[in-house]
Amino acid sequence: MGLILVRYGEIGLKGRNRNVFVRRLRLNIKDCLKRNHLAGEVSVHGQRLYVETDAVEAALPHLQRVFGIVSLSPVRSAPLDMEAITAEALAVARSAGLGPGRTFRMEARRAYKGFPLTSPQINAQVGEAVRVATGAGVDLSDAADVTIGVEIRREEALIFAAAHPGPGGLPLNSQGRVVALISGGIDSPVAAWVMMKRGCGVAPLHFTQSEVETAKALENCQVLDRYAYGWRIKPLVVSHHEVMAPIVERLHDLRAERWTCLFCKHAMLRRAARLAEEIGAHAIVTGENVGQVASQTLPSLEMISLGIAKPILRPLIGYDKVDIMALARAIGTFDVSTRESQGCPFLPPSVVTRPAMDKWLELREQLADVLP
Ligand code: ATP
Ligand code: MG
Repeated sequence: MGLILVRYGEIGLKGRNRNVFVRRLRLNIKDCLKRNHLAGEVSVHGQRLYVETDAVEAALPHLQRVFGIVSLSPVRSAPLDMEAITAEALAVARSAGLGPGRTFRMEARRAYKGFPLTSPQINAQVGEAVRVATGAGVDLSDAADVTIGVEIRREEALIFAAAHPGPGGLPLNSQGRVVALISGGIDSPVAAWVMMKRGCGVAPLHFTQSEVETAKALENCQVLDRYAYGWRIKPLVVSHHEVMAPIVERLHDLRAERWTCLFCKHAMLRRAARLAEEIGAHAIVTGENVGQVASQTLPSLEMISLGIAKPILRPLIGYDKVDIMALARAIGTFDVSTRESQGCPFLPPSVVTRPAMDKWLELREQLADVLP
């Protein structure tokens, strides 16, 4: 049986709630194994979790998508005996590629204080053996190429090296639900992912404008679902034509077509707030970002948000576009988002660039009966 050490970060700071978070993380890891058809057991030991599985290498890339995990290390175990511990440390050092020209440091920890050697003594003794056998240099700073950990427990010693990074954040489904407005674009799937990373169960809502964009939105929901351990991504698709037809008609009658984009966004938020109420979600998430397009200037954001019954979360509000794009690449949504796109069918010939609040409020009164 192989063993993987799972380190979590922030949830360790949650005081008395810690157990709730760790329990959630454990369930999510189990869900990850199950959904990827991997057999394994997950156990909690103090500040860490361990995954016992025959498929260590296969499990690692999947576990790297479980929110709340800071890092993962495959672990070898040895009996509580310095010779055995040293032998395993050497095996770990070799598989981590230690040799001349590379550096390492030792990091021993005694969870079981009955072991006869202190941590510094273990470090010195095992480190010297590794140095002599591999020809690698010792570097006690953070800059060392490899850190070899030795953890002394009551029953055995655990030895590990390479740490594979996890996504960090909080365990999914530990923070309640949100409705995420998802388009076929770059930003909104990233915004939803950021909220998932903060532990929120995301219910995607998409408005169909064209088959092309809807296909992209749904494909990106599937990408998000690859991170959704402990939660299921089930997008709701609504016809945008049905929502927009009466709005467009009324704006036409009022010769106010230039306000279409703002009413479009306001209508989406209203519909999302209703859905949130229906499914017990506490907020709405969008991919909006100050200044990106006309409907995302601060005055526009102020207007479209007015009177929406749920808080609107905009996790990307202050990001630069290059940073959002880099995140989209890392998450895996970028290629889908940047595929051939189809423009919005409701886009008027010209849009308001300096919308005035009094005019907005007046129009909103005049459209009250056609808004969702
Ligand atoms: P994105 O890249 O996320 O599409 P964008 O920069 O293109 O954003 P807009 O088209 O103005 O900006 O959309 C602003 C936000 O409104 C989006 O981030 C998304 O949350 C939501 N949204 C836009 N179009 C749709 C749609 N068809 N269905 C659901 N939500 C949408
Ligand atoms: Mg868009």
